[in-house]
Amino acid sequence: HRAKTAAYRARSLGGDRTVVLDAGGTSAARLRRAIAEGELVVHYQPVVTLPDGAVTSAEALVRWTDPERGPVPPDVFVPRAERDGSVVELGRFVLDEAVAQLVAWQGRPGLPRTVAVNVSYLELCRPDYADDVLVTLRAAGLPPAVLVVEVTETTLGRSEEHVLENLRVLREAGVGVSIDDFGTGYSSLSRLERMPVTQLKVDRSFVARLGPGTERTPVLAAVVALARGLGLPVVAEGVETAEQAAALAALGCTHAQGYHFGRPAPAAVLGTGDPVTRQRGTGGVVVPLPVP
Ligand code: C2E
Ligand code: MG
Ligand code: MG
Ligand code: MG
Repeated sequence: HRAKTAAYRARSLGGDRTVVLDAGGTSAARLRRAIAEGELVVHYQPVVTLPDGAVTSAEALVRWTDPERGPVPPDVFVPRAERDGSVVELGRFVLDEAVAQLVAWQGRPGLPRTVAVNVSYLELCRPDYADDVLVTLRAAGLPPAVLVVEVTETTLGRSEEHVLENLRVLREAGVGVSIDDFGTGYSSLSRLERMPVTQLKVDRSFVARLGPGTERTPVLAAVVALARGLGLPVVAEGVETAEQAAALAALGCTHAQGYHFGRPAPAAVLGTGDPVTRQRGTGGVVVPLPVP
């Protein structure tokens, strides 16, 4: 798999070079065209409660299959979209998809009740970002609490005035605000208490250290304790084994996400395909759903 990813990277770097030489096309234009052509889809990964493993939420993760280059990993094209500004259109696309999916999932037992979308700094710099999100939810007939926005520590730490204002507006309306990859960036602990935040997501690098023969995971334990002290739920990312899930539950971690519970997949898979999710979902309800 790693070799495959490296090949995509190499190819997409080559693609970049071509784009730079070709003054007629930018990577922003390419991504906008990809959205228009339907080359992007949104996959969903379940978020479960610990220790029972019931599905409560899902994270929306964008996927791009370029007809010429094949799948392009988000770690490659999202940072590029952040640099060239097209992440605003990307975010808009993912939000619309997630909202349509939430409508389809409403009131179905064992399926996600909330969806988390990743939001970039540039989106939050727009003065109307929060209002646009709230209008979109209202138009779909959804309460704000069904949506969670995930922002990184770096985004939160930047001083741009609209970033915090947008998050405050969303938070006050009832939208969840989650700090993604927590522990890898720089968070001022004194500021954290005053941030409009409802949830912490511990980065998977800390979870990866939980395994047989691992006795000390001080950062993970400290982050879980910090979240509890702040009265916030904490999601552990990248949970790949039952042992890790058990260790996290023992630490007091409230939620988990990772391959052990389900890989990111088309929305219909959350209702049918994944055996772990189905077994752990409330009542094992199986509802085949169309991908909107
Ligand atoms: P993230 O928000 O931290 O998302 C979690 C990443 O961890 C996802 O990678 C997911 O597939 C992966 N993952 C989940 N469980 C496991 C596990 O058990 N083991 C391992 N090794 N990995 C796991 P993905 O989908 O490749 O996305 C990478 C990053 O791209 C995301 O990190 C996020 O920062 C960004 N991204 C993805 N979709 C969007 C989007 O719609 N908008 C924005 N702005 N960024 C996005
Ligand atoms: Mg995320
Ligand atoms: Mg993350
Ligand atoms: Mg990440």
